[in-house]
Amino acid sequence: MKIIEYQTIVEEVKEMCKKANYNLGEDVYTAFSQALKTEKSETGREVLSQLIENADIAKAEQVPMCQDTGTAVFIVELGQNCQITGGSLVEAINEGVAKGYGEGYLRNSIIHHPLDRKNTGNNTPAIVHIELVEEEHIVIHMTAKGGGAENMSDLKMLKPSDGVDGIKEYVLDIVKKAGPNACPPLVVGIGIGGNFERCAYLAKKSLFRPIGIRNHDQTIAAMEEELMMEINRLGIGPQGLGGSTTALDVKIEAEACHIAALPVAVNLNCHASRHQTSILM
Ligand code: SF4
Repeated sequence: MKIIEYQTIVEEVKEMCKKANYNLGEDVYTAFSQALKTEKSETGREVLSQLIENADIAKAEQVPMCQDTGTAVFIVELGQNCQITGGSLVEAINEGVAKGYGEGYLRNSIIHHPLDRKNTGNNTPAIVHIELVEEEHIVIHMTAKGGGAENMSDLKMLKPSDGVDGIKEYVLDIVKKAGPNACPPLVVGIGIGGNFERCAYLAKKSLFRPIGIRNHDQTIAAMEEELMMEINRLGIGPQGLGGSTTALDVKIEAEACHIAALPVAVNLNCHASRHQTSILM
């Protein structure tokens, strides 16, 4: 049995929150640089250059790359042979988020209740998804998910007869409707299958996969490539000012579902696609 201290998790999460907001991931940075070579619009290239400069400044000065420092969302692979001592996992994550957002001067964006709209003052509670795994370690994946892109996300219960063409048509429609509001260039996360709530989780989970890494299922990987091409033909472009780089990547996660159902969720991520992973062992 592996023992992991509550305080170890708090400290790790605190640093993850700061790093995610200050340091754009290598995968996103590389995708910006590649897009700069292929972007057809001059304005689009200018926007991409500004995004690269913005990421460089954030990293050099250790300041947030965007004023919206996001909802802290976690997917935790919890080894069933681990014991957390000194408190609960979710408490430790929330304490880490509160410390990270406080010490890091990151904007607090979470409210107590959707109707009273009062800010909790420390960006908690975080959203925590736990997956139990047969390991002796804990893997913490964190994203600081921007509100603008989240607002343009969507879920639809398609009919099985809608098939692949129906899924593509729906995804393209959501990206078109989002236009500039999701702060493109985007990472488009798609969940297919499961049920109503599981499908939304799959779309979110897909966004934790680094840019450029395809789904291991060849059919799904081909769909990711095809949708990527079709989305980039929409002409929305960087920051919605026109161009050929509307998406930096498309990610799909698919799972078993009911014979009568074809749930599809689209979770959009903005160009501030911030994620961190940490392994505690
Ligand atoms: S959606 Fe993303 S880029 Fe847009 S304001 Fe929010 S964090 Fe910033």
